[in-house]
Amino acid sequence: MTDVLIVDALSAGTGLRRSSRDSIGCGPRTIAGIFEKHGIMCKILRVESLLETPSKVRRFDHLAVSAMTMDLPVVKQVFTIWRKNRSRRKILLGGPIASDPMGVLKEIKPDVLVIGEGEETLDELIQEGFLNDKVDLGGFKGVAFSDKSGPIVTSPRSLIPANKLWSEFVPSSTRIVDYPAYQASKVYVETIRGCSNFRRTSLPLPDGRECTDCGNCDSSDPAIRTYCPEDIPPGCGFCSVPSVWGEPRSRDSGSIVKEIEELLNLGVHRIVLEAPDFLDYMREGMPLTNPCEPKANIAEISHLIRRITDLPQMVAGEAHLAIENMKACLFTEDVALALSGVLKSTSPNIGIETGSESHSKQIGKCGSPQDVIRAVRLAREYDMNPFVYFIYGLPGDSPETVEESIACMKTLADAGADRIILYGFRPLPSSAFADFSAPTSTNPLAEQLREAATRINRDKKTDYIGLVVRGIAAEPSWERHGFTMIYPLNEGPIITVEGGYSSGTLLDVKIIDILSPGLLLGEVL
Ligand code: SF4
Repeated sequence: MTDVLIVDALSAGTGLRRSSRDSIGCGPRTIAGIFEKHGIMCKILRVESLLETPSKVRRFDHLAVSAMTMDLPVVKQVFTIWRKNRSRRKILLGGPIASDPMGVLKEIKPDVLVIGEGEETLDELIQEGFLNDKVDLGGFKGVAFSDKSGPIVTSPRSLIPANKLWSEFVPSSTRIVDYPAYQASKVYVETIRGCSNFRRTSLPLPDGRECTDCGNCDSSDPAIRTYCPEDIPPGCGFCSVPSVWGEPRSRDSGSIVKEIEELLNLGVHRIVLEAPDFLDYMREGMPLTNPCEPKANIAEISHLIRRITDLPQMVAGEAHLAIENMKACLFTEDVALALSGVLKSTSPNIGIETGSESHSKQIGKCGSPQDVIRAVRLAREYDMNPFVYFIYGLPGDSPETVEESIACMKTLADAGADRIILYGFRPLPSSAFADFSAPTSTNPLAEQLREAATRINRDKKTDYIGLVVRGIAAEPSWERHGFTMIYPLNEGPIITVEGGYSSGTLLDVKIIDILSPGLLLGEVL
């Protein structure tokens, strides 16, 4: 029996996950599902845990690493550890990091780099005996590798049709237990792959490509929207989802509910339905390349959520269901009404990126900042706690757009946004903005946005003081001896409390202080 170690290096950067520590993505469990399908034993390890105890690699035959573009430094460290201990065993690398195969192969040399949608490729590699024999990798689609002649990238693989994707490649539920504090973490369950925004940026790209206004992006024919004569990748300029994963492919409700049922039975308390835009779920349109028309499929969305919230742990109030990403232009009153009817409290995450109407159009966003303000008001009216996402350092930023964004942040806070989340722009391979530079740490425009967002979030957090929150004990605090980290059962900031509590314990916590923008101090009642 072959044992495979799957290393979850997603978002670890240079080695320590600073954000999203309470989140478990679905990619590594999807990989585990493929090994399990072939009867191969596997285990998932967070990269931090491997760096802490490198000897853990010794009991495994092969290594599979899942990582993002920003994680190259930590992946290098993992490869060094592996090669020192298990020099002749196979290394597979995949995930968003593979979208720049030549760049990756120049820096590190996995035995195989799985590019793009990896399920079918990994399935074939296992079937053909890649793990234990020498196979001709040149015969596989969607891989890259190095041989004596140098780096080789094979022809791309087509995206997997929805019916095959969701029926043949089922994520492993059981491997959730490999994650520390999985009982308290947000566990993401994939519901849709791909995005319906096939508009494009109108900003000139560094290599000279520029929109010539052919009209395809606004065509009423969904098939015409997929083609750009200037070869500009579809979607918001900073995002690679439509160009890598294509239009949305929704997963059937039976398969989603089964996975969630298994996870809850294993002790998970917090489920997040993962989707680039949840409101694309089962939306009609072939291909689905118009982000705002037709409207969301409320019947299918309600049916799915009702099936999940009818599970015993949800009914008993011991588990929480969250939906994150939603596009403002699809978030109508009917949607708010339907969601509030089946979910107790939720925080729709709405991306605005910039508060400037003209900048929003330039970067290829669907909808407008006014749509986001309207959606936030609606969400608040229906007792939801919306989070709004901005990006600093975007191509096209100027003192004027930043001024408009700051004004927009204030309007959003007044309209009921619970939190303003600010991300730094990163040039992602396969996105339209791939060749732009990331903002420097001293960017004065970024600093203005950061200050405005921090001020708003601090003011909002004072609302937490005195609140009693249902939380789940996660792990001992790294920074405060004798304290335990508590993750909120519903959405909200992480809390630390004095005392030791075993992972998974449900507690009622009173918030007594704000320690930092992302951390509250509480006392257990
Ligand atoms: S398809 Fe390309 S050229 Fe045509 S409008 Fe869209 S971005 Fe411009």
